[in-house]
Amino acid sequence: MSDETIDTESKKLWESAKSFLIMSLTTQEEKSQAERYLGMITSVSAEGSKFKILTTNEFTADLLKADYINKLRGSLLVAGATPDLEIEISCDHNARSTMIIPTEKPEGKFLSSESRSSGFVSTLPLNEEYTFDTFVRGPSNSYAISAAEGVVRNPANPIYNPLFIHGGTGLGKTHLMQAIGNELRKKNPSMMICYLTSETFLNEYVTALQNGQIASFRHKYRSLDLLLIDDIQFFARGKDVQEEFFNTFNALKDSRKQIVMTSDVAPKNLPSIESRLISRFEGGMVQEIENPSYETRLAILKKKTEISEVRIPDSVLEYIADNIKSHVRAMEGALTKVTHAIIAEPSLLLTSETLSHILKDFIEKEQSMRKLTIKEIQQTCANKYGVSMSDILSHERTQSLVTPRQLAMYISKKYTSKGLQEIATAFGKKHATVINGVKTITGRLSNEPELKSDLEEILSSLGYRLSDSMD
Ligand code: ADP
Ligand code: MG
Repeated sequence: MSDETIDTESKKLWESAKSFLIMSLTTQEEKSQAERYLGMITSVSAEGSKFKILTTNEFTADLLKADYINKLRGSLLVAGATPDLEIEISCDHNARSTMIIPTEKPEGKFLSSESRSSGFVSTLPLNEEYTFDTFVRGPSNSYAISAAEGVVRNPANPIYNPLFIHGGTGLGKTHLMQAIGNELRKKNPSMMICYLTSETFLNEYVTALQNGQIASFRHKYRSLDLLLIDDIQFFARGKDVQEEFFNTFNALKDSRKQIVMTSDVAPKNLPSIESRLISRFEGGMVQEIENPSYETRLAILKKKTEISEVRIPDSVLEYIADNIKSHVRAMEGALTKVTHAIIAEPSLLLTSETLSHILKDFIEKEQSMRKLTIKEIQQTCANKYGVSMSDILSHERTQSLVTPRQLAMYISKKYTSKGLQEIATAFGKKHATVINGVKTITGRLSNEPELKSDLEEILSSLGYRLSDSMD
């Protein structure tokens, strides 16, 4: 291999490393400076574990050695270079500026409304990366994915129209909704598709009212084939806009056009939304996305590293999946933080101690956010065994009620920091009853594998694992 040519693999490695390096810098000034210096690299080549970098002049070579060698090393490692990587930086006296490989900007992944066919009338762009392929399936979201796939197969089928997806923040509602948009757009480029949030709808509505353009506003939304409307909880802010949306909704539904909505709560729990709207929202399919289990969290992290082509040791991904449970967005943030830490300090040993230090903010936030409530536990146990909340709280002692009740006590005791008295009060029982319940379950778990797997399933839908127990 000559110094000036480079095989595609090393070129890819270098391209990724450069964008990782830039991304890892915090200020715009640092980024611009790095871009300037990296721009003065005339060629790179790889020979075994040696990575040679040639620059236009001695000064740049010295500067890169002094200020960037560590970051270059870290970025190359994150991009997939072997750990025994050696970097050599020198000046190329026969420099030819044509060898400069431009740094790819991380932006540009969004499709603007003009960039494709005329069928796309979105107010907001669709993120091209939000596809079904990049969405990891797990027990927490498989029903929602199946429903979304149903919409793609057969838009406006009354079974899925409207499709209402709800769930906590950062669990993938927007991703899944946009996957529907991206997929249908690919299948049928002339389809009139619009993605927006309820807030954008509200703002556009207000502007249209102010400018006397309500007719064209209505025309725009009522001639769609697919309306994707995100975070509809914000409709709570205005009565008029609810009325307007109600009419849009009915017009679309009546002309057999597909509507997909998301919200952070189930339709019936939407605050300040009129009941006639709620019953319309419930008229198709309602699916929830729940907290992902440990396995799903790990699979999502692996998928994210695959997509961005970063090389992060499995043990680090496991650490993140173990410690960040509340939402996927926070996991992604944690992954970026660790990636940047590796770039800044490639020789860092990634023990759980260093990781807990790097991810301190995330973990603290997690702890304050994710306080499992006893009610949540009772409800999940009740659901699992097909009994009601009042069954759990009752004094009835049939075995079919005692098991879910005692399991709920067991989880409350072992997986929250709540005291016996508080647990007893939440169950309306004496605290000796709770102690007895916890003891009974502990005993049964060691010789009843089915009970153990029920427990695992319940914990998983609460976003926990067996090993998360506090003792
Ligand atoms: P929400 O709209 O529910 O608040 P988002 O759709 O914005 O959540 O998801 C937050 C981030 O988590 C996005 O980057 C998304 O790609 C990612 N994400 C969530 N769930 C998954 C999943 N199952 N597979 C892959 N990525 C996911
Ligand atoms: Mg969202």
